[in-house]
Amino acid sequence: MSNLGSVNEEASSDLDRNILAPRQVKLTTRSAIEINRLLPHKGIRRIGAWVFFDHFGPTEQTTAMQVGAHPHTGLQTVSWLFSGKVLHHDSVGSKQIIEPSQLNLMTAGQGVAHSEMSLSTHQLHAIQLWTCLPESHRNTKPTFEHFAELPAIHSANFDAKVIMGRFLNVTSPATIYTPLVAVEITLKDDALLQLEETYEHGIFAVESDLFIDGHPLLTGHLYYLEAGRKSIKLEVLKPTTIFLIGGEPFTEPIVMWWNFIGRSHEEITEMHSAWNSQSSLYPEFHDELNLRIPAPPMPAVSLKPSTGYIRL
Ligand code: MN
Repeated sequence: MSNLGSVNEEASSDLDRNILAPRQVKLTTRSAIEINRLLPHKGIRRIGAWVFFDHFGPTEQTTAMQVGAHPHTGLQTVSWLFSGKVLHHDSVGSKQIIEPSQLNLMTAGQGVAHSEMSLSTHQLHAIQLWTCLPESHRNTKPTFEHFAELPAIHSANFDAKVIMGRFLNVTSPATIYTPLVAVEITLKDDALLQLEETYEHGIFAVESDLFIDGHPLLTGHLYYLEAGRKSIKLEVLKPTTIFLIGGEPFTEPIVMWWNFIGRSHEEITEMHSAWNSQSSLYPEFHDELNLRIPAPPMPAVSLKPSTGYIRL
């Protein structure tokens, strides 16, 4: 454990550009739940192919997540719970409850619709991330995968679950399309984590503050690490959980708007109209929410593709 004392707000202000503070986003489609968005961030738009990172809760509300049917294209949604229970439905016919330490992975490809509804009377504490599909696979047929158990790593100082990709020579069975990783790590004590040198990484403090290479990281914040690191030193004040993401820098210019990822304004316009006109791309499915969320009006300005790396 660290004897560096408590982490204070001042020490982790925006002066440290590697720390991504969450911003609260009000989503009308998700009733009464606090959403903290980590990616995209003003300075860091993506980490590897990870282009989106939302943190939910923890909340005591029993109907915390009520997200009606909405579409996705060109990405994977990755759902991971720390507590609670969520029921997923989608247009490929899936109906799946997800609980903590399980993975729901939906590859949208050319287009899929889904809904999510929290079930548990326990608090909901979850993250949802998106990976951007590369050009070679972004128009693939949609698929859904559920993993009730994931490969585990046990060591003296930490336990880990390998959710996506490979970590310390342990590989998740989940389908990935670019070199990337996602791992939940429970730190029992201070630890030196070995990293894939060609990846950039993000370390998210799930439940308590910690120190990364001596820098304080507050709960709910994300620490960005550029590629080229072979290891990182983590110091904890008490046993705690972090969520590690990483990947080879993803350099394809993309347009990310609402729930769609495309490569041009024209593509996004087509995706927008396919959803709002109830195209056969999105077969109907039935759930208890019985809601269909229309795409908002297209912006007046033309959407421009971006590589997303705009370090401030
Ligand atoms: Mn979604």
